[in-house]
Amino acid sequence: MALKAVFPGTFDPIHYGHIDIVKRGCALFDEVVVAVYNRPLKNLLFSRHERMQLVQEACLTIDNVIIKSYDGLTVDFCDSVDAKIILRGLRVFSDFEHEFRMALANRRLAHGIDTVSLITSEKHTFLSSSTVREIATLGGDVSSMVPDFVLEALEKKLAQDYAKSEDV
Ligand code: ADP
Repeated sequence: MALKAVFPGTFDPIHYGHIDIVKRGCALFDEVVVAVYNRPLKNLLFSRHERMQLVQEACLTIDNVIIKSYDGLTVDFCDSVDAKIILRGLRVFSDFEHEFRMALANRRLAHGIDTVSLITSEKHTFLSSSTVREIATLGGDVSSMVPDFVLEALEKKLAQDYAKSEDV
């Protein structure tokens, strides 16, 4: 039986920490479905479509990956693509409690689904989408954190937002 894992996240935007987990997941499993969560309880910079496009571009050279977006419960999405594994990344200790709770909640919701968490690569320990967004918004250099096409999308998006705020 092919081992399929779902890597769920907001990816707002995708960064090297995510890409590292996708690549390592793809080496472990037959297929990884990167699942872009449509409506998180947080403010988004990029639309679902934009986040999907950036994830797609980031995964172009990886064979056994597919990109989808989803609403609702992650375990329901896993059922819909016939996956029994949720793939997650673990950074610093503060991630652990959150991931631990989510993994237990998902197990309660769906007994057949297990979470596999990969420890981040050392150089990505402090990397998160919110850090990328914050630094980029303040005009800082995020070129070591995201691929060039994400950098361009960030610059474009922030210029649009700035233009909008000037109109008010
Ligand atoms: P972020 O926390 O960057 O906003 P998401 O909410 O999209 O990202 O998280 C999706 C998954 O990617 C989560 O399991 C998260 O722990 C993991 N992840 C995020 N950043 C990193 C990183 N630097 N290294 C490893 N895993 C990460």
